Amino acid sequence: ILEQRDALMKIAMIGTGYVGLVSGVCFSDFGHEVVCVDKDPNKIEMLERGEVPIYEPGLDALMAKNVEAGRLSFTLDLEQAIEGAEAVFIAVGTPTRRGDGHADLTYVMAAAEEIARTANEYVVIVTKSTVPVGTNRRVKDTVSKANPALDFDVASNPEFLREGAAIDDFMKPDRVVVGVENDRAAEVMANIYRPLYLREYPIVTTDLESAEMIKYAANAFLATKITFINEIAALCEKVGADVKQVSKGMGMDGRIGNKFLHAGPGYGGSCFPKDTKALARIGQEHAVPMQITEAVIKVNEEVKRRMIDKLLDLCGGSFNGKTVAVLGVTFKPNTDDMRDAPSLTLIPALVGGGAKVRTCDPQGQHEGEALLPGVHWMDDPYTAAQDADLLVILTEWNEFRALDLSKIAQTMAAPRMADLRNVYTVKDARQAGFEAYDSIGREGFA
Ligand code: NAD
Repeated sequence: ILEQRDALMKIAMIGTGYVGLVSGVCFSDFGHEVVCVDKDPNKIEMLERGEVPIYEPGLDALMAKNVEAGRLSFTLDLEQAIEGAEAVFIAVGTPTRRGDGHADLTYVMAAAEEIARTANEYVVIVTKSTVPVGTNRRVKDTVSKANPALDFDVASNPEFLREGAAIDDFMKPDRVVVGVENDRAAEVMANIYRPLYLREYPIVTTDLESAEMIKYAANAFLATKITFINEIAALCEKVGADVKQVSKGMGMDGRIGNKFLHAGPGYGGSCFPKDTKALARIGQEHAVPMQITEAVIKVNEEVKRRMIDKLLDLCGGSFNGKTVAVLGVTFKPNTDDMRDAPSLTLIPALVGGGAKVRTCDPQGQHEGEALLPGVHWMDDPYTAAQDADLLVILTEWNEFRALDLSKIAQTMAAPRMADLRNVYTVKDARQAGFEAYDSIGREGFA
């Protein structure tokens, strides 16, 4: 989609995970020459064979197209990737550090040191990973100390893509955020994103600290919105209101907006849990407690616990000896990502309580097998539900949205359903012959 051929640049991308690989592939599709580096030889071998190590819709085809065009390649060798690159992106993981909730910057700082050791001409070092305020300055200090002769700038370029819709989010962003310290770095960043700028996607240019803060503030706000509606859902159940109608009525107010107002089993995934914890930690360190975010973290844990109570109620107070079919294990549809998925709380509670758990997920088995010991993996929802005492809908994959519920109810030992994504209704469940149905923030029956 590049319209000005002279804007072609060489870019190095460190980390080929969900963010690094999608960003690298999309930049190459803009027309830039991109070399993606990872320290994991298995990933690089797969990528060199043309295989995508993660599940992200559309990524395989876009990757193949740009490899074919000679703009995209993969290597274990950072030096080779950096050679002649005008920008090097750090897109490595920043998981929660054990013990204190702080973002673990080990991988980011290691990448910065490696860049310092290998770069020898002007380069912009861009942090795409989600990092606490002040990290870009730390990267700058680290590189300066390790290689005082190197001419470089740093830039903060947080990523807002959603797994499952990552390519579209990257290619059609609501905005691109770029934190820089001078015009020289701003110009390099503007050249990288020129194809988006030409299509009138806004680029917000800020200082380094504001860019870093925007990412945490945005994620904490979204986690708050989800948690808010989850708490409202709990109250709806007690007062006889229907949270779906409530969120529809709320969301039509333009000041509120209808996104992220779907009640469910609590947020999970690779970003919200770790980023809310990291923001709370940053607040504590600066003696400005992030009280709302801290409450959100606590309430989200309660939401997950409440889900276990729901399942217990439907199982008559004990999981022991029950067979439970769980549909969906990934934290949301259209991804294979299992990080902090609600299934990792619910399924161990079922197994630990003595239930036999049968599950199926269109993409989650590969990751899920190691994380969910003792679970029986089935090929489809119908075989999973056979002879079960309870059916749980945990991830709203399209594959689970139009099930033949009558067929399922007939083969279950006890046709009972916990619909934790509000995919079906009381009417659907009754008509299909279920004897009990519970969902989130709505009345059920038993
Ligand atoms: P990931 O764990 O999927 O990928 C990280 C990759 O970096 C791994 O392949 C790892 O082998 C590689 N790596 C680590 N250190 C390296 C090094 N020194 N050299 C080369 N490769 C190295 O992580 P992710 O989900 O892509 O997330 C990356 C960052 O982006 C995180 O900070 C995350 O918070 C942020 N982010 C993620 C998402 C998302 O939806 N996953 C969205 C926005 C922002």
